[in-house]
Amino acid sequence: MRLLEDVHAVDKRATRILTLAMDASHTRIPLGRLDVVQRATALGQIDAAWVKGWETPEDWLYPQMQEVLTTWTRLNGPQHLVYRIVGEPWAPRSHALRELLARNGVPFEFVAADTATGQELIRQHSVDVGRLPALIHHDGTVLHDPTGDEVAGSHGIATRPSRTDYDLVVVGAGPAGLAAAVFAASEGLRTLVLESHAIGGQAGTSSMIRNYLGFVRGISGGELAHRAWEQALLLGAEFAFAHPASGVSRHERGVDLHLEGGLTVSSRAAILATGVSYRSLGLAALDRLAGVGVFYGAAGVEAAALTSLPVAVVGGANSAGQTALHLAKYASQVNLLIRGTSLASGMSQYLIDQIKATGNISVRLGTRLVDAEGVVRLEGVVIEETSSRERTRLPLSGLFVMIGAEPHTAWMTGLQRDERGFILTDRDVVRNSATTDRPPLPFETSLPGVFAVGDVRRGSVKRVAGAVGEGSVAVGSVHEYLSLDGR
Ligand SMILES: Cc1cc2nc3c(=O)[nH]c(=O)nc-3n(C[C@H](O)[C@H](O)[C@H](O)COP(=O)(O)OP(=O)(O)OC[C@H]3O[C@@H](n4cnc5c(N)ncnc54)[C@H](O)[C@@H]3O)c2cc1C
Repeated sequence: MRLLEDVHAVDKRATRILTLAMDASHTRIPLGRLDVVQRATALGQIDAAWVKGWETPEDWLYPQMQEVLTTWTRLNGPQHLVYRIVGEPWAPRSHALRELLARNGVPFEFVAADTATGQELIRQHSVDVGRLPALIHHDGTVLHDPTGDEVAGSHGIATRPSRTDYDLVVVGAGPAGLAAAVFAASEGLRTLVLESHAIGGQAGTSSMIRNYLGFVRGISGGELAHRAWEQALLLGAEFAFAHPASGVSRHERGVDLHLEGGLTVSSRAAILATGVSYRSLGLAALDRLAGVGVFYGAAGVEAAALTSLPVAVVGGANSAGQTALHLAKYASQVNLLIRGTSLASGMSQYLIDQIKATGNISVRLGTRLVDAEGVVRLEGVVIEETSSRERTRLPLSGLFVMIGAEPHTAWMTGLQRDERGFILTDRDVVRNSATTDRPPLPFETSLPGVFAVGDVRRGSVKRVAGAVGEGSVAVGSVHEYLSLDGR
């Protein structure tokens, strides 16, 4: 195991497979060594574990090997290039353009303008260096500092709906919106999906989703999202990118969605799946270690893998307190890092009492995290006492950042939302003259015929599987709504 861990210090691109001898019961899951595999996976020491010794490698070994090789090639191998970007590496617009193409799965190469290759491209394509970054299409066309709309247009991606009326408009193409699109289109509804930025939403930013049913070794969020996008397109759903929805209103025949840029689309019903953004601490050192010791959200499956190791939780709300208590059952030491000076300002008393009674939790009030250490995985953090500015290094194997999520609902002014902006649905909706004379359907908001699913909905579980489940099930409510009074 030590060897596999050290390999990454030599070359981070290496894929590390732990091969285990088949046990006496000849199972293809290493049942007898599960604890070793679980721990090594959670600590980022290996990428996969296989049982060796099958008589027919075609049946079990080769498919696994192919999967690993495909993933490696996608990340590291030569690619068919659709675009080359020429620009200044650290310019915010260069970063925005790289991020847009990467998150939408478009193959590209970035070339710094001041390199020999950059200068050659500038000369060859008559790039105006006053308007960098420039996007050079494989056919030679050049776009200077393009908007998302222009990039999508150049890539043949629709940015405007093809018609003005639909049976269903889904807002957001994260897991919840994609699932709704797949189900709605497969069930014969004329479906439009509006996505402001990139397919996959938050899930698209996850390098490896390990808790989605059926993907034993996990799947990258981008890959999962692209499969779902293709599936929805083949089933007949239409997508329009780059024009965020900016208003929703009802009229006699259904719902109007207003888009930035002045467009309006009408539809018989709408599903809002606009998700949330998890707040990050804004430290590059932490972002680099996400998934290899640094986690956003609750501890879940990682907790057992951190047995006897020191960990920390950042946050002062109930979710952070619950996570600290859960981790304390496994970890040697749990540091609860809180910016404020009192636990009571954000946490329920019963949790405070439990935390105080738990010997291996240290509450560090008035502290902020200023740096993280580790090359292959998290090894420690540096915290600063806000009053004295004194800095301390904490050796850590796990860090859970739980400083809240913000829903993308600022524009949904006509909808009932809770104090944090999450959309109220079905039983949570307060019925009044603006709502209907019937109880809301499952996932229906305070606006009849408008449904909300996934992370943006109050009470959702904030997981890919939850979002996919809600998006799929809400289509049943849409059908029920459309059948009411023959709508
Ligand atoms: C880094 C990271 C890793 C994660 N890892 C896991 C994991 O391993 N397992 C797991 O179960 N969960 C994981 N999660 C959580 C999971 O990704 C979310 O629960 C899930 O993506 C929620 O899906 P959603 O469709 O509700 O919302 P989102 O994924 O947030 O998608 C919402 C979409 O709506 C779009 N949108 C927003 N506003 C508008 C608008 N006005 N007009 C048009 N479009 C709009 C956004 O651009 C976005 O694409 C992770 C989250 C993050 C951030």
